[in-house]
Amino acid sequence: MSKQPLSFQPEHDHDHCIHEALKKARGLCAERKQRLTPIRELVLQLIWKSHKPLGAYELLPALADAGFNSAPPTVYRALDFLQTQGLVHRISSLNAFIGCPHPGPSHQGCFLICRACNSTVELESAPVQNAIHNSAAHLGFIIEQETVEVVGLCPNCQSNDPSPAQREPE
Ligand SMILES: [Zn+2]
Ligand SMILES: [Zn+2]
Ligand SMILES: [Zn+2]
Repeated sequence: MSKQPLSFQPEHDHDHCIHEALKKARGLCAERKQRLTPIRELVLQLIWKSHKPLGAYELLPALADAGFNSAPPTVYRALDFLQTQGLVHRISSLNAFIGCPHPGPSHQGCFLICRACNSTVELESAPVQNAIHNSAAHLGFIIEQETVEVVGLCPNCQSNDPSPAQREPE
């Protein structure tokens, strides 16, 4: 069952998002007999701190605070694991990571990214991916990477940050 994405709603109960994400991660890892070690779980939790993608280096101070080895390779290994398990996606245009709200079946991400506040929503990717696959097949093109990153302005930033044309004269 897919739920309405919440990340463009600034006032939602985000603790619930974090709780759900960790619960799903624990369930999936148990099912697949993968170890969600404390550092992997902490990295996942840090990434879920908001609906804005986080760069690997932004995770380092919090890991050090929690007493983990915060050398970049440690963090990258944890991120690799989380990506392999489909618990986080990499947003290449931002070189950053975002939690997947519906991990489980393997899928490519399709994202709406706000250029002003970086809030990012993962869309149901199947219809978009089908259209891409059909067009590619038609052209005999072999797809290797098909993450879709769409940049624009979220509803909050449209009202907080009017473009010059909409601004009142002083
Ligand atoms: Zn949330
Ligand atoms: Zn996803
Ligand atoms: Zn925004």
